[in-house]
Amino acid sequence: MSEKTKWAGIYLLVCSIPLFFYFLPPLSPDIISHKAVANSIFLVPYAGLILIAFLGWQVNQTRILWTALFLLSFYFYLRSPGLFVITETGRIETLQIVSVAYPLALCVVFFLKESRLWSDLSLARFLLSLSPLLLLICLLSWAPDLYQKLMFWGPSNPAQGSRLPWLCLVAVLLFFLIVVYLYDPKVKNFLVALMTTLVPFLFISQVCLLPPPLLSKVPTSFHIVVAFSTITLILLHALLRMYWQKVYLDPLTAVSNRQAMDERLHTLNGEFSLAMVDIDHFKKFNDTYGHAEGDNVLRMVAQHLAENLGDRVYRYGGEEFCVVFEKSDHGAAQEMMEKTRAALEKRKFTLRGQRKAGYSASKLLSRRSEGRGKKVHITFSVGVASTTKTHRTPEEVIKRADHALYEAKEKGRNRVVSAEK
Ligand code: GH3
Ligand code: MG
Ligand code: MG
Repeated sequence: MSEKTKWAGIYLLVCSIPLFFYFLPPLSPDIISHKAVANSIFLVPYAGLILIAFLGWQVNQTRILWTALFLLSFYFYLRSPGLFVITETGRIETLQIVSVAYPLALCVVFFLKESRLWSDLSLARFLLSLSPLLLLICLLSWAPDLYQKLMFWGPSNPAQGSRLPWLCLVAVLLFFLIVVYLYDPKVKNFLVALMTTLVPFLFISQVCLLPPPLLSKVPTSFHIVVAFSTITLILLHALLRMYWQKVYLDPLTAVSNRQAMDERLHTLNGEFSLAMVDIDHFKKFNDTYGHAEGDNVLRMVAQHLAENLGDRVYRYGGEEFCVVFEKSDHGAAQEMMEKTRAALEKRKFTLRGQRKAGYSASKLLSRRSEGRGKKVHITFSVGVASTTKTHRTPEEVIKRADHALYEAKEKGRNRVVSAEK
């Protein structure tokens, strides 16, 4: 199961918290309506969403900032009904409009590529994301018939069953398509988390649309706090994972980086083995096919190592990788490396012929025609070392693995050499 699927499942489980509190309230209504409790818990989503907006902006994701600001505005609106003096019909219509406008705003926010906060694109993003809201408000005022047809074109009218407009489902589906098809690895995990938070969002919209109190003995304001706290918790976790990835993952190859390896090695106690992997003749490959194609090879080799050896693979730097074998004996580590090396030797790598900016047009054309579609074999050399009675520190093991790797290169490359003779 991929990391993304695993976390989507966990987030969906967390999303059931507001439903749980609604249908099986675990706390007595007296505790919930106690002044001190009521006065403090409503601050949780405010604090959390402001933190998400700030952290999103700090991680150069204004799209996350906008998302948090939209949620903050909606929460503020739901929490402060007294501020907005409107009729019951007006309250219901506003909720219905927001339930459609929010997923559509998310589509706009994430469809447009990331930009600086103070830029034309950012302003365009803001105005375009507000346009569904403004459009629906205008339609309601000036063409109520059209508005009704657009919002509730489905099989049942809003008086029966769900009070949420049918158009809201279309908006959610549209956002789902954006989440699935948008290729932006930087925000992919956050988008998956955001998709799951539409469950508590739609749930609380529906609860606020129901005549109070229908099913629950607890005031609706408490359910609003629980739903928004759940949304905040999930988004904050997804954002912290983004920070974690920035610290511990190599952005090019998506395997763990040297920082992660150093920390892992220094928390190991007992025996371990370490393999140092270095791609053969990589400089020549870069010189022949270009740096961008070289990057593709690095990605492919990292993927091959991760497929065969799991999460014990780290990018050490440049075209070198390290594999850490905890608690496995030297022979087993050597054997696994030999299998992985032999498997790569058999694989063929198809050149894409794509190039990054920075090459002159003539060079680009000649290199393209040289590389595109061509199949090449990539090999690597490996040095394996293990802890011994006299060499126990990670630095000593790395040094010995490096010597063994040097020996592998000397002997003709594309082989595994052991430091333990
Ligand atoms: P050997 O078989 O002895 O290892 O030869 P080599 O050419 O692989 O070794 P050398 O250390 O001379 O060259 C390493 C090359 O790796 C040089 C550098 O251009 C390339 N390299 C390092 N990091 C990256 C990277 O992130 N992307 C790309 N495309 N190339 C990189
Ligand atoms: Mg090297
Ligand atoms: Mg090399």
